[in-house]
Amino acid sequence: IFIGMIAGILIGFTLQLGNYLNGDLDFQVFSITFSTYGFFVEGIFHAGGKIFINALKMLVVPLVFVSLVCGTSSLSDPSKLGKLGGKSIALYMFTTFVAVTFAMTSALLFKPGAGFQAPSDTPEYVVKEAPSLVQVIIDMVPSNPISSMAEGQMIPIIVFAILFGISMSYAGEAGKRLSGFFNDLNEVIMKIVTIVMNFAPYGVFCLIAKLSATIEWEDIFAIGAYFFNVLIILILHAIIVYPLLLKLTTGLNPLILLSKLKEVAAFAFSSASSSATLPLTIATARQKLGVSRSVSSFTLPLGATINMDGTAIMQGIATVFIAQAYQVDLSTVDLLMVVLTATLASVGAAGVPGVGLILLAVVLQQVNLPVEGIALIIGIDRLLDMTRTVVNVTGDSTIATIVAKTEGELDEDIYHDRALAKQKS
Ligand code: ASP
Repeated sequence: IFIGMIAGILIGFTLQLGNYLNGDLDFQVFSITFSTYGFFVEGIFHAGGKIFINALKMLVVPLVFVSLVCGTSSLSDPSKLGKLGGKSIALYMFTTFVAVTFAMTSALLFKPGAGFQAPSDTPEYVVKEAPSLVQVIIDMVPSNPISSMAEGQMIPIIVFAILFGISMSYAGEAGKRLSGFFNDLNEVIMKIVTIVMNFAPYGVFCLIAKLSATIEWEDIFAIGAYFFNVLIILILHAIIVYPLLLKLTTGLNPLILLSKLKEVAAFAFSSASSSATLPLTIATARQKLGVSRSVSSFTLPLGATINMDGTAIMQGIATVFIAQAYQVDLSTVDLLMVVLTATLASVGAAGVPGVGLILLAVVLQQVNLPVEGIALIIGIDRLLDMTRTVVNVTGDSTIATIVAKTEGELDEDIYHDRALAKQKS
């Protein structure tokens, strides 16, 4: 995967540079003329990346449903789920709260928007409707589970799967027979994940090559202060806040966790979607971190939907940046509103590319800042989106590990690679 990434960067940049210096070069195959840049960037890389992401997305709904049914039906005490859920949600909210507070404090000190003149003719930004909190709560219970699955809505699927799994454990013989079927199905789906992941190096190569060939450097330099402010806080959050939280709550060595998340991070970065990364996040949590099936299949899909610390960091800094660029003073109440809205806004939106900007519109409206301000940062958002998705999935995996460890659901032999060592000896 890493070789794929590096090769993608090199080839993408070469294509961009070649295009910049020499203009587009044509080549001929059987007297048909192709443009080099168009053929590779918009053809091969675009299609290769899309196919790979589709293959992973294809697995998300079956994997979440089946593994959650297996996880809940095998719980000796189904009421434990309430505790798991409460703990996961509380930790997710807590880390998001810390993330946005940390981000806003840094932006207030660093002032990325000071001296930046918002152009008077900013193009209009069309706000997409974000769901209200009441609607999000109502929609948690699906009126039609099949249509929720068809639309890939994670929370209603989770609710249906939990009810299904619990009912199986109460259904006696019938439940036992079904349990065998679901366990087999789960094995098969995990095998498909493995097959798809064998193609990851090529998929990642295509995604990164396309990005490197199309990246707009001028845009990044124009608002470099904002860009680097977000980037630095994202990195610090991932390498300081999560490890500290893991160490303080469980005593586990956080370096092991971070090193085992390398592939998950690489894929989150190239795909910019925590939902598409979910199959890999679940497989890694189970096979490399030792998180039990019930915790991984419950806490991780929940996290891919409600936990977006990286997104909250961007929202906190973008709000302060836009306020500074438009010379609007934010009062303390406004700042608290931003923290609260950014924490809550992430609950209803799935982790897909670019969703952070829609959530940002909600936050801006809450404190009466011009939503057009989003146009100032939209040009460079993709790279930040990729980086914050890494933070989002790192957060999900850290919390899943903490919940598993504190609930006695973590296999520490796997976490410390002792299982393998034992097998060898
Ligand atoms: N792309 C992010 C994710 O999937 C969400 C966002 O910040 O736009 O986690």
